[in-house]
Amino acid sequence: MHAANIGPEFGKENLKFVNIEKPQAKSGEVLVRITKAGLNPIDYNLIHGKIVYNLSPVPHIPGSEAIGVVESDGTIFKKGDRVLIYNRIFDGTCDMCRSHSEHLCRNGGIWGVVSNGAYTEFVSISERNLFRIPEGLSEEVAVSLPVGGLTSYRALSRAGVRPGDSILIYGASGNTGIFASQLASIMGLDVYGVSRKPWVKEFGCSTVFSTGEVPKDFKADIVINSLGADFWKESVSHVASGGKIVTFGVLTGREASLDIAHLYTNEIGIIGSTGGSLEDLSRLLRLTDKHELKAPVATRMKLMQLGRALDEFEKIRDGRIILEIS
Ligand SMILES: [Zn+2]
Repeated sequence: MHAANIGPEFGKENLKFVNIEKPQAKSGEVLVRITKAGLNPIDYNLIHGKIVYNLSPVPHIPGSEAIGVVESDGTIFKKGDRVLIYNRIFDGTCDMCRSHSEHLCRNGGIWGVVSNGAYTEFVSISERNLFRIPEGLSEEVAVSLPVGGLTSYRALSRAGVRPGDSILIYGASGNTGIFASQLASIMGLDVYGVSRKPWVKEFGCSTVFSTGEVPKDFKADIVINSLGADFWKESVSHVASGGKIVTFGVLTGREASLDIAHLYTNEIGIIGSTGGSLEDLSRLLRLTDKHELKAPVATRMKLMQLGRALDEFEKIRDGRIILEIS
């Protein structure tokens, strides 16, 4: 079977496609045929050698967001089940796992980063990482839930959002932004997006500011900045007194400065968030029963076109890049 491969030299020019043996399902695991995979900043950064987490193994099969079909019977899942993959490796026994924070497992990490990932035809994976895809949920949304959907859901819940709060979302047309806007709108917030793409209005934003054009005196109760350093100073300036800024990404850089006096004199809270727990994903899936989520797709490509997909990723796109694997 085919797999994308990167390392020990990184950068898309060093991306290879290799023929490897189909894996065997180990005890507690099932074999999953990957049908679709997403391309997210984490995969892009990994391929370019800019990953902030421990990478293993090297050379490496990237891909941390995928759906597929179960190919071997397990104890919970049966051959033919359509599943999405919760993308955290976790031991289930440490104090973090036992307090429902599997994504912070002391002995774990991101599937596709601390382990080989989704950019291949078959994977063997623990049944506890699998969720059945509900009938009626589109495959485009399903494949976007493990990273974009879950990260946004948890970020909103960490911020303690309440109906009526205002929220300003940087990168509203990005993989997480489209879900942060939709979920915030479902949760009853007044949603303001920052994007060059006016279509984000169809994804829950009542108002869209073009990048760099948020009015100076505009304030929101919650600000989401998943873009990192370049927008840090600006995004903090838009947090209302008593409000919060939430961050979960560093696409434009990981170091920024902070006016500490501004922070405490306005009682601003800074919240870090990363991925989400099994319970978060379970809640998010339940929410899709009642509310329709949408995932715009800019491009669909085959696994062998991953290099081109990475080029596309560098542009400001009209939605997600989906890899059709098998
Ligand atoms: Zn653990």
